[in-house]
Amino acid sequence: MKPEKSQTTDQLPLLLLVEDSPTTTALLSKYLGNNYRLLHAKDGVMAWETLEANPEIVLVITDIHMPNMTGHQLLVKIRKSEDARHKNLPVIVMTTAEDNVDRNLAFLNGANDFITKPIDEMEMVARVNVHCRLARTIRELEASRHALAEQATTDSLTRLRNRRAFFENGAKALVMARRYVSDLSVILLDIDHFKKINDTYGHSIGDDALVLVAQILLDMSRTEDTVARIGGEEFAMLLPDANRLGTAVLAERTRSAIEREQFIFGDKIIPITVSIGIASLSVDPAESIDQLLGVADNRLYLAKNSGRNRICVNDEGKTTFG
Ligand code: GH3
Ligand code: MG
Ligand code: MG
Ligand code: MG
Repeated sequence: MKPEKSQTTDQLPLLLLVEDSPTTTALLSKYLGNNYRLLHAKDGVMAWETLEANPEIVLVITDIHMPNMTGHQLLVKIRKSEDARHKNLPVIVMTTAEDNVDRNLAFLNGANDFITKPIDEMEMVARVNVHCRLARTIRELEASRHALAEQATTDSLTRLRNRRAFFENGAKALVMARRYVSDLSVILLDIDHFKKINDTYGHSIGDDALVLVAQILLDMSRTEDTVARIGGEEFAMLLPDANRLGTAVLAERTRSAIEREQFIFGDKIIPITVSIGIASLSVDPAESIDQLLGVADNRLYLAKNSGRNRICVNDEGKTTFG
């Protein structure tokens, strides 16, 4: 891998060379030293410690016969690692030409490639280049797959989960709630007279208000909750393991926090209130998250119709369980 002109030495890919022979070590340092940074370990034990301490290692070149821990044992340890970073590291094994048994065993244990001693410079450099490039491509693909998945489940304005993520997480949470006979609740929240906020202050301030409301909802939530924007000015929270009483308390705290918040835009303070409906699996039997949300939606409608800026906890339009 030819380094870019602007690449400084400490940006060069970091390799781990595991070799007990000083001669081979010196030779490989000479062959690879221009385009790579090299860490050296004298046996498998030291190699493992070096790997754990240096997450930026991108490739391992290992000898087989070494004291303490052999190359085979090291390879098995790497491939069995819980850490995906180790598990997927490319490993090139060095064997002697006549040693088919070692070579085949290395492949069985998950080696990516082998090279025979005495080491040929061109061959070594070519193999290391190929595996480093491949590993980098795989890392980039994995990163973009992760970014795409994140994008597909994120609301671009508020950075909350989007509608799709809410229903995906909801379906999973419903399975867990049934399996462990635990409760599962939803809070459905809609901003009051939001159209008027847009009409009065402009769409852009409307957007800013949505972001601020989203932040309040996030602040009120636990890590295991899903907070989502599921419509224009409509938000939902999925609360695993929360019963209707706890959910009502959280809903009222959220409503009140938004009512009390000073939404300051330029020289204006804009009052914002929300109406909320809640539903809990243990008292509102539902076959799906869609159904559970439907129950909360009916109650949200009651909250709107009975004056807004309130929560509604049951089909009679009550605001508390008191
Ligand atoms: P209610 O109290 O009954 O909920 O009244 P409302 O005005 O909030 O409800 P309505 O459904 O009539 O209007 C919702 C408004 O939300 C209309 C729409 O233009 C606005 N809206 C939807 N999405 C966005 C958005 O992404 N940004 C902004 N600024 N406004 C949005
Ligand atoms: Mg050796
Ligand atoms: Mg509204
Ligand atoms: Mg609405």
